[in-house]
Amino acid sequence: RVSCRAVQGLGRDMAGVVLVSFEDITDKEQAGQMRRDFVANVSHELRTPLTALMGFIETLRGPARNDPEAGARFLDIMQNEAERMNRLVGDLMSLNRVEGDERVRPTQSVVLNDILNSTLHTLQHLAREADVTFETEFPERPVAMIADGDQLKQVFTNIIMNAIKYGGSGGRVTVRMAESAREPVLRAPGVRVQIIDYGAGIDPIHLPRLTERFYRADDHRSRALGGTGLGLAIVKHIINRHRGRLRVESELGTGTTFTVILPIHDGL
Ligand code: ADP
Repeated sequence: RVSCRAVQGLGRDMAGVVLVSFEDITDKEQAGQMRRDFVANVSHELRTPLTALMGFIETLRGPARNDPEAGARFLDIMQNEAERMNRLVGDLMSLNRVEGDERVRPTQSVVLNDILNSTLHTLQHLAREADVTFETEFPERPVAMIADGDQLKQVFTNIIMNAIKYGGSGGRVTVRMAESAREPVLRAPGVRVQIIDYGAGIDPIHLPRLTERFYRADDHRSRALGGTGLGLAIVKHIINRHRGRLRVESELGTGTTFTVILPIHDGL
């Protein structure tokens, strides 16, 4: 869409002259609409736990005042809701940070094997609770690259946590890494990290929108598991910053494979 403004020349020299300016407003309108949608989503996501908290506070002050058993139960629920809000605010801050960072190239020398091992170590307790075992297939040789180590850890944490949360019924999660002197997608030296689960899978109609903020393939399940709907949006921005790619393949009833493809820059 184009906005057009015409101004009739007023001065003596400008008599009879009409200035016409054209401006493409499609992008501006879209950006404005996206911002409004985002604020509406955030408000809705924050209001849900807040409403629950306010309801339980009222009940604790009134009907449940003299019922310690119900009181303890309600406090548990209130803690869950407060933790949900805390996770949401944490993810919003991460998203804000990574969006701001996107134009700044990472400069750290990192070893990808170390980042993945440390991520798996951190998530080990979560996997054990869900009865999931990790299988790893890493190359012998350490894969060194220029990256932002903390951000890459966040990428793998978010994807592996999802594999445990949504694919955990498969009993195992495979993390595979392969380096290539000519990564076919990047047409340059690169590394592929695949996170494979053998769980319920995702209906293919959801796949193109999975990295949108607050998009959930299974809304009920995501909320029941305490998801914020922002994990993969954060992943997408970090991978963009690293000039990498994210691929998702999934089949209902068989499982899901997330593939992170990262370039390996010279300079080490
Ligand atoms: P959430 O906080 O809801 O987990 P994410 O952005 O991390 O948000 O993921 C978006 C949605 O993608 C999830 O709500 C879930 O429906 C779907 N999803 C992500 N990973 C998997 C997986 N491994 N198996 C099945 N569904 C998944």
